[in-house]
Amino acid sequence: MAKVKGDIIIDIEKCKGCELCIEACPQDTLEQSRSVNTKGYLYIVKVQDNCTGCTNCALVCPDGAITVFRQSGKKKEQIAKITNVTGDLKVTVG
Ligand code: SF4
Ligand code: SF4
Repeated sequence: MAKVKGDIIIDIEKCKGCELCIEACPQDTLEQSRSVNTKGYLYIVKVQDNCTGCTNCALVCPDGAITVFRQSGKKKEQIAKITNVTGDLKVTVG
């Protein structure tokens, strides 16, 4: 079976550096940056290009800072964007 290729985009300004996504990632794709965002949080960064698009990180992020993509053939599709705005959880899975 072909290996699934995934990718994520991190909205660093939404990130509060809680590290939940780092713990949830089975691929060790994420680490905390040494830089802070404009709110003073150590945001997370992708340190390896081995994401499978499993969505774990986006599901655990309390701040909706991660959007997950999966690559099928040459097409890159957004598969999960999870936003949590003042308690209303909105999950979009394509
Ligand atoms: S989608 Fe899965 S593999 Fe990719 S960074 Fe998030 S937790 Fe890790
Ligand atoms: S779970 Fe969300 S807020 Fe926490 S470190 Fe990861 S991206 Fe940042």
